[in-house]
Amino acid sequence: MHLLALVLFAAAPAAAAVPDAEIRAAAERLAPGVVAVRRDLHAHPELGNREERTGHLVAERLRAFGLEVRTPVAKTGVVGVLRGGRPGGVVALRADMDALPIDETNDLPFRSQTKGVMHACGHDAHTAILLGAAEVLAGLRGRLPGTVVFLFQPAEEGAPEGEAGGAVLMVQEGALDNPTVEAVFGLHVGSWVSVDQAGWSDGPIFASSDTFRIEVEGKAVHGAQPHMGLDPIPVAAEMVQALQLIVSRQIDGRQPRVLTIGRIQGGTRFNIIADRVTMDGTVRTHDATVRAEIKARMARTVKGVAEAHGTTATLRFFDEGNPPTVNDAALARSVGVPALQRVFGAGAVRVDPQMVAEDFPAFGQKAPYFYFLLGTRNDAKGIGSVNHTARFDVDEDALPLGVRAMATLAWDFLARN
Ligand SMILES: [Zn+2]
Ligand SMILES: [Zn+2]
Repeated sequence: MHLLALVLFAAAPAAAAVPDAEIRAAAERLAPGVVAVRRDLHAHPELGNREERTGHLVAERLRAFGLEVRTPVAKTGVVGVLRGGRPGGVVALRADMDALPIDETNDLPFRSQTKGVMHACGHDAHTAILLGAAEVLAGLRGRLPGTVVFLFQPAEEGAPEGEAGGAVLMVQEGALDNPTVEAVFGLHVGSWVSVDQAGWSDGPIFASSDTFRIEVEGKAVHGAQPHMGLDPIPVAAEMVQALQLIVSRQIDGRQPRVLTIGRIQGGTRFNIIADRVTMDGTVRTHDATVRAEIKARMARTVKGVAEAHGTTATLRFFDEGNPPTVNDAALARSVGVPALQRVFGAGAVRVDPQMVAEDFPAFGQKAPYFYFLLGTRNDAKGIGSVNHTARFDVDEDALPLGVRAMATLAWDFLARN
């Protein structure tokens, strides 16, 4: 499999007229500005669908680079369009802009100035990198063979309760139409790989995620007389076990999957039978069929276990969930991997798919996509905390590499199509 893939890469024609050296020089020249933008965004994080300041900053800079700007898209999002001086196709590059409800504990001069909100998933870096790529490509626009659409997306981490948002809303509001986008590229920073590396896959790279709630109905009574009521706690306990049997006994062992119940709540006192138990959890897979199968089997298990004990229970999945992020194999082989190999050399490494999730696959409804991991871990500098923690940080040396990668991916796609 690996040998075959190598042969395919080697056999692909060299990208015509991609100005690698000029992209590199521009990315390195602009690096201090990209770092400054990242630090500014880091100090001023905003939650999903509230990225007002961030969106304004992005729109202003894109206009300064001479791009056409559409805003607001999907609440606070921004779409920038760069038309090259030569005819060609249309490619999109995406960055997400939202922060998380986490109190930063890093001692940085540019640490979050908003209590309880932090760029703990690196979307500040994503936004700064994409602005850098826009500036690089705008500087070379006369020779650019086609159009690049820059997608600055709100609310990747989820919209506030009751609100629409994220990649799905960007697509619904036409972010990939006019001009019609033919391929989408995106990245995520993190400690999966180190600062001089990019992690790629020509198949699954992130998991699906579905959040669920199970409610088991009981009947409260004195704890000494359970037979007079209906105790939901042992029923819930049996459900937790039975749900793990779906994962371990009912799904093909070659398929990655996780079912986690992260929260159980029921009862008020040691000697009172609870009137209900509530359990919340998440399901992760790398395959749409496995995802559907687990969800269907969960419904059967919850209903069956409840009925066996004369109780009732409900299973509810919240919103649509995220499909798995699965790279288009042909796009990965023709553009994604060769471009990363030119930018990162031996640092472009194949990675196993992760169990974390992204709303990025929504863009795949309209066009094939390629998504990769930009390494920001640096053990020597003590940077390695995982995403979504109060100590998350990125090694900023990765930023110019991210700029180069995004600009190169866009140009490669246009040069080959
Ligand atoms: Zn995140
Ligand atoms: Zn993220």
